[in-house]
Amino acid sequence: MAKWGMVIDLDKCTGCQACTTACSMENNTLPGESWQDVLFYHEGEYPSAQMKWLPRPCMQCENPSCVHVCPTRATYKDPDAGGIVFVDWNKCIGCKYCMIACPYGVRFYADEKPLIEPDIREAYPSDNGQLWSPPYQNPEEDWQRGIGIQPPGVVSKCTFCYHKVKHAPEGVVDLDEDNPEVKEYVPACVRTCAPKARYFGDLDNPESQVNLLIGDRHGVRLKDHTGNRPQVYYLGAGASVPAFTPADREHDA
Ligand code: SF4
Ligand code: SF4
Repeated sequence: MAKWGMVIDLDKCTGCQACTTACSMENNTLPGESWQDVLFYHEGEYPSAQMKWLPRPCMQCENPSCVHVCPTRATYKDPDAGGIVFVDWNKCIGCKYCMIACPYGVRFYADEKPLIEPDIREAYPSDNGQLWSPPYQNPEEDWQRGIGIQPPGVVSKCTFCYHKVKHAPEGVVDLDEDNPEVKEYVPACVRTCAPKARYFGDLDNPESQVNLLIGDRHGVRLKDHTGNRPQVYYLGAGASVPAFTPADREHDA
């Protein structure tokens, strides 16, 4: 089984947020939930400050703090599914421990006041235990993996589009949009990225494009000092990843 990983080249990313939109459409997330957000921030001081941005999916950590804290084992890492971290919506009690434990802020709980007005759940009410009934719906549903339309009272997160990835032929090394034989299995954010800033493949295969890029261009992992060991890597000049400072450590402690 592959160990799925994502590489994001920040030298190519334009911050257009097409990935954010594609993810929301693919995964029926509620307005205001962004499993695949693009975070904007600035570095430096006026007049030489620079606007920067950072696309941020779930890191599918190798050592996920969200899994360690979950009291019901609703959150789990599945080595048979490429090491993706899932939330079993049948087991989640909505305690939000995982949201606090995740250093990357990529988990969402949506049973409180609406995140934006008007409350879209009123526009498309659902009668089957789900939070809403969007006009377009992903055809697949798997509550044990947090796939489908989120029910009330649980936490959700990015699944690396496992409902697509799982159909990839056994032994495939890279899920590349440019390869007609596998493009249907490519995660939505990777497929939709116009400047092709995203790559998706097997971190366990030394010949995969993701591994070659990480090696050749010194891929870095976000907040690596936490020990979470993400399966998402960033490339680019200085990787534009916000620099780690001792102040961050104090903040994280
Ligand atoms: S990024 Fe957060 S939610 Fe995702 S696996 Fe890591 S700790 Fe868990
Ligand atoms: S909110 Fe759900 S997934 Fe998160 S720690 Fe609590 S039970 Fe586990």
